[in-house]
Amino acid sequence: MVHDAVPAEEKTVLDEGIEKGASRLTEERIAEVINRVLYGEGGARIRVYVDTCVHCGLCSEGCHYYLSHDKDPHYSPAGKVKQTLWEMIRKKGRVSPEFMKRAAEIAHTQCNACKRCSMYCPFGIDIAYLMLVVRRIVHLLGMTPLYIQSTAHSHSATMNQMWVKGDEWPDTLQWQEDEARGEVAGLRIPLEKEGAEIMYSVIGPEPKFQAQLIYQAAIIMNAAGMNWTMPATSGWDNSDMAMYTGDNELMGRIKRRHFETAIRLKVKKIVMGECGHAFRSVYDMGNRWLGWKMPPIPIVHAIEFYYDLLKEGRIKIAKKWTDPVTLHDPCNVVRGRGLHEKARYVVSQICENLIEMHPNREHNYCCCAGGGVINCGPPYKMTRMLGNRVKAEQLFETKSKGAKTLIAPCHNCHSGLEDINHHYGLEMDVKFISDILYAVMEKPEKA
Ligand code: SF4
Ligand code: SF4
Repeated sequence: MVHDAVPAEEKTVLDEGIEKGASRLTEERIAEVINRVLYGEGGARIRVYVDTCVHCGLCSEGCHYYLSHDKDPHYSPAGKVKQTLWEMIRKKGRVSPEFMKRAAEIAHTQCNACKRCSMYCPFGIDIAYLMLVVRRIVHLLGMTPLYIQSTAHSHSATMNQMWVKGDEWPDTLQWQEDEARGEVAGLRIPLEKEGAEIMYSVIGPEPKFQAQLIYQAAIIMNAAGMNWTMPATSGWDNSDMAMYTGDNELMGRIKRRHFETAIRLKVKKIVMGECGHAFRSVYDMGNRWLGWKMPPIPIVHAIEFYYDLLKEGRIKIAKKWTDPVTLHDPCNVVRGRGLHEKARYVVSQICENLIEMHPNREHNYCCCAGGGVINCGPPYKMTRMLGNRVKAEQLFETKSKGAKTLIAPCHNCHSGLEDINHHYGLEMDVKFISDILYAVMEKPEKA
């Protein structure tokens, strides 16, 4: 039985985006938007999912929010649909602004769109999709949470999610090239090189906060002897928070710019850094919205790229990472794309000892940051921390078996697990694969 009580730790969250948006709504406007999305855009898929669900509750055990809140049915996947979409359908869209505020909160901050619950449903009902339909309605009603809306606005204005300005981007690349030349003589980060084999793309936070990842990528590309380039203009950011705000039009515009940039540079493929949601936006949602069965240029996630480099012997390992590691399987590259064994191959080549967390691979618990939840900002940090106690328990158990380093090959997972690490006092060392690969590989001559 689902109850309507708002959990105590979430009562305090007052999100300006949701509140202001709701203050402008009328029931007529809400009904018009809901019915447009349900019957004009969504159609049969929504109907089939909602009509097929037998309310058995088997999906509940799949959700980390439910498990972390002592099996409170309010957090069960079917419960989240019951409190949002089912009510909208039952009332033919005639729901109140107050109802929509709660629906926005549930869809944006109590579901990571991780799809773990779909594996527990006997019919494979895609609850994540249904929550994204709610977000689409929330977007069209202009009541998206403030922080993630700001990120989407940045995408819209600058084609990157961090307001990185036109000159800031090449300046950052040049800065990283200069830094890397201190380590490898003559190293280049080739800009705008037409006809290169690879266009390397990253997510907005890399030039803003994590420029060392660009440095590491440059060293890896250089050591492997790759013919690569990076664009000097917009199109370099492969991330796409509009995918999670339900702004499908913007999602498509961002994806189109990314691929058009690669086409302009006449590269053979795009290699992207360790990001999960950006990968989902090109293999699943953005390309489909654009009507592309396949992306116009092949795109390869960093895990696949490192796998190929190591398999082909293009990168040699000087000395493997000695601290025992554990590997977090990000939803969007593992459950969504099946890269778990390739990730394990890479880890086996660069680390001496992998201690598996349980469950793992496609059954792994979500980081609770993905699906745009961490992008809803600081107001919801405790929602993420309390909503993923099971992840902390899973990591404590893995640490008790000896794991010291936690590898998270996805930006959202990495940041979310850093928060879990600090909040629960895990004291693990959270790393990207590239942090370790860079540290253990044989490097070209010093400058
Ligand atoms: S967070 Fe994941 S498991 Fe929970 S309802 Fe959303 S998609 Fe399902
Ligand atoms: S497991 Fe499937 S059918 Fe059962 S309640 Fe969950 S979504 Fe509905």
